[in-house]
Amino acid sequence: MNWREPKVYAIRHKNEDIRANSRSGGIFTALSDKVLENDGVVYGCVLTEKFEAIHIRAENAQDRDKMRGSKYIQSKLGDTFVRIKEDVEIGREVLFSGTSCQVAGLKKFLKIEYENLICIDIVCHGVPSKNIWKEYLKWQQMKYRAKVIAVDFRNKKDFGWRDHVESIYFENGKKVNGRVFKNLFYGHSILRPSCYECKYKSIIHPGDITIADYWGIEKAAPEFDDNKGVSLALVNNNKGEKLLEQIKENIEWKKTKLEDSMQTPLKEPFLKPENREQFWKDFYENSFEYIAKKYGRYGLANKIKAVFRKIKVKLIR
Ligand SMILES: Cc1cc2nc3c(=O)[nH]c(=O)nc-3n(C[C@H](O)[C@H](O)[C@H](O)COP(=O)(O)OP(=O)(O)OC[C@H]3O[C@@H](n4cnc5c(N)ncnc54)[C@H](O)[C@@H]3O)c2cc1C
Ligand code: SF4
Repeated sequence: MNWREPKVYAIRHKNEDIRANSRSGGIFTALSDKVLENDGVVYGCVLTEKFEAIHIRAENAQDRDKMRGSKYIQSKLGDTFVRIKEDVEIGREVLFSGTSCQVAGLKKFLKIEYENLICIDIVCHGVPSKNIWKEYLKWQQMKYRAKVIAVDFRNKKDFGWRDHVESIYFENGKKVNGRVFKNLFYGHSILRPSCYECKYKSIIHPGDITIADYWGIEKAAPEFDDNKGVSLALVNNNKGEKLLEQIKENIEWKKTKLEDSMQTPLKEPFLKPENREQFWKDFYENSFEYIAKKYGRYGLANKIKAVFRKIKVKLIR
């Protein structure tokens, strides 16, 4: 049974390499390492060679490491729930990580509360459509006349934890940094329809522990804030608290206040944009370049507008 109010922590993994390779402070690796140590199984989201997000099962650190990093598209679950049921029923310790609606879906599927199942959900802005992601990559390949060989949805190593720059790596050695997909994501028209009515935009979550980027860390625990990533952990019940106790030797942690940690996705869903229908009509009827310019702030005209915006802000200040 989850508490009515979570206990709140700021967390950084003590291993700097792990933190650099994780989206925020590396809490997912610390939690899943404990499960692997106990001969358990970890389920989470990876990106395939075709750049699709899917959930996989991992029994070792090598496979689990592929789950690190946020993939800002909807992950395909396949037969994940069936496999989890098999694992928990033979007594393996299992950790499942995913969006809150995936965790809620798993619990509904299983019907029984298993003591040996740990659920970690992420504070979730919403999931963008994978069709847009696919067309975005095709457009990049056409523009640069080379095959995409790797992507980073949010390049923390080169730009720091707070910034949001996507990096695309090509077969011919080129690398492109941009913000078009990010701008479409934050424009909200590409979110799944259910995300506008998400039940989990509150402090109540279905996981044993809910994890996120610790936005507001500069107030909640400024001594943790080095722009290399801090995780927010909302501990929702006794099981989550017990697991957190077990990883404390590998992390730096501080108990913080809920009121200093309230980012928008913990309060309310994002509104469905008024121009959402127009966006999708445009997407089906036009080239991706048109979409990038109209909605993704791509191109010279948008660059000029951005410069004017910056000048205006400076003048007002
Ligand atoms: C779609 C999406 C929206 C997000 N929105 C927010 C937000 O609004 N606010 C916020 O603070 N943080 C958000 N996050 C990121 C969340 O902050 C991190 O997952 C969390 O900080 C974990 O940090 P870590 O350092 O332990 O990460 P990592 O070790 O990088 O952990 C990655 C974890 O995320 C899971 N994951 C990655 N991609 C997906 C996916 N597409 N679907 C399901 N699970 C996935 C993996 O299974 C793994 O458990 C979002 C992530 C995703 C994928
Ligand atoms: S915003 Fe809510 S409904 Fe949408 S993917 Fe995230 S948890 Fe699921």
